[in-house]
Amino acid sequence: MSHLFQVGAGSGGIVVLDLLARDPRITRVTLVEPDVFKPHNVYRHLFPASAVGRPKAELAAEWLRERRPELLVDVLPIDLTAPENQAKLESVVADCDVGVCAADNEPAKYHFDQLLRKFRKPWTLGEVLSGGIGGWVHRFTPDGPCYGCVASHLQRTATDTPAAPPPDYNDPNGPVRETAIPASKASITVIASLHALVTLDLLEGQGARGMGQVRIGLLLPHAPCPLPLSLLVTLARVPGVFDDPYRTVRFRVPRSLACLLCSAVPVATGEDLDAALDQALDRLGHG
Ligand SMILES: [Zn+2]
Repeated sequence: MSHLFQVGAGSGGIVVLDLLARDPRITRVTLVEPDVFKPHNVYRHLFPASAVGRPKAELAAEWLRERRPELLVDVLPIDLTAPENQAKLESVVADCDVGVCAADNEPAKYHFDQLLRKFRKPWTLGEVLSGGIGGWVHRFTPDGPCYGCVASHLQRTATDTPAAPPPDYNDPNGPVRETAIPASKASITVIASLHALVTLDLLEGQGARGMGQVRIGLLLPHAPCPLPLSLLVTLARVPGVFDDPYRTVRFRVPRSLACLLCSAVPVATGEDLDAALDQALDRLGHG
């Protein structure tokens, strides 16, 4: 019995949601998705052209109920970051077991991280790189690094990994992001499927409120809670970016003691603090 809290039911988010909701361990879903289904969404989405003009949240709820009539589904067609929605969102997060972030913008990712960390809930994030040349799946745990730690770490090491340098995917002005080439449905589905698997792995580690430990008639001991992880998957050869397609690179990003977003340790004052604050605001898009 697990309650999934998900933000985003776009072309990737709906695949993650569909795969997770088919798992019997998931018994309740709360989905935040304020968008309306538009004509250009049809190519890469599960919903038909006849659904254009309807709220994605409503369409997602119908999709899930048709496949799992017993699943409890709540949809919130609201903005995740709007101040007036925070009381409602906090009550949902307090009750959930795992979070899935399938938002496509940085402020929403930072906000999701802050919400889930406040209530010490594990969560996952999937990101498809521009053009579908690869993607990331991140797994966050309450005592591990926050999204800010991971974003800073990956930016710093972006040019230091010779095998498969990750593009500066968190920098809106970076070369890969800037081109904003749409990804193929195939690329989106690969990353979304991996995102779903990593999320199920988190639930398994938690014991999923007592379920999920019985396999092929054997009672297994509780699996240890998975560690935080960032996984990069390459899906294309891109000169100067990825040497090979179909490679995976695992990153164990440490929690940054200087992180303004998650660290309880006071950081340096003066210029260091100003620089760190500027950096954090830049990442939030307010720089
Ligand atoms: Zn942090």
